[in-house]
Amino acid sequence: MGDHHVHLHPHGPYTGEGPPPGEYPPGHLEAYVETALARGADEVGFTEHLYRCVESAEVLGAFWATEPREDLARQAEAFVREDRTLSLERYVDAVVAAKDRGLPVLLGLEVDFFPETIEAVTAFLEPYPFDFLIGSVHWVGGWSIDHGDVAWEFERRGVRRAYEEYFALERELAASGAVDVLAHVDVVKKQGHRLPEPPVDLYRPVVEAAAATGTAVEVSTAGLHQPAGELYPHPTFLRMFREAGVEITLASDAHRPEDAARDRALAVAAAKEAGYHRRVTFEQRRRRFRPLEDEP
Ligand SMILES: [Zn+2]
Ligand SMILES: [Zn+2]
Repeated sequence: MGDHHVHLHPHGPYTGEGPPPGEYPPGHLEAYVETALARGADEVGFTEHLYRCVESAEVLGAFWATEPREDLARQAEAFVREDRTLSLERYVDAVVAAKDRGLPVLLGLEVDFFPETIEAVTAFLEPYPFDFLIGSVHWVGGWSIDHGDVAWEFERRGVRRAYEEYFALERELAASGAVDVLAHVDVVKKQGHRLPEPPVDLYRPVVEAAAATGTAVEVSTAGLHQPAGELYPHPTFLRMFREAGVEITLASDAHRPEDAARDRALAVAAAKEAGYHRRVTFEQRRRRFRPLEDEP
């Protein structure tokens, strides 16, 4: 069983922790694999952020420019400018080289979803030898929906409306069929903003779109370490995916080696609780199934 959501650099300005952004010295990828294997995983799927790669500037464009709220647009623009320090070419080369060294790794990418650019992004990524793509909604228009610095927007907009806008995009992402896995599918809850009941009416269109396009969903432990304090997706949401026949991966969303495959047993337990017996892995965008029973 793998960890199918792993980054090679923390966000933000370089603090001296790990190698400088865009550099992959000997042993760096190995450190992730070692930790993940020690925690019972059998492979690591690296999924660097597309928006962090300088090559993505052209294809993603200035997506914040159409945001009517100027404070949100400014935050998004500044955040992307600060964080766009990686090279897609060098990242791909580093993972392919690790594969060539015999490491149990997969080449993936975390693709940012914007309805207006997803077709261009798909065409842009086509020449690369990706094993799998995961898709994320990090921005609703120009609002960084999961970023603590602009979490006050939940009060301004209202939590229900924020959820509606977020899940409408998530549904569009699932319906696009552009990615293999939906990443942190209810990340809108990350900063702790909740509705009184799980919004089943908003979940359902996402589940149906994922089932129709054969897009999987990740069971991610990252939310346990955020104000949300729970896995993505919510147990009710995960059960709905299961009932619709949507496949799963397991994910840590690690940004440093020591977090690879973190809390994995909790993700496996949640998947089993929802009725899953298998998980999916990928090779050159083709699906392979592995029994969940093998998981420690
Ligand atoms: Zn993400
Ligand atoms: Zn991520």
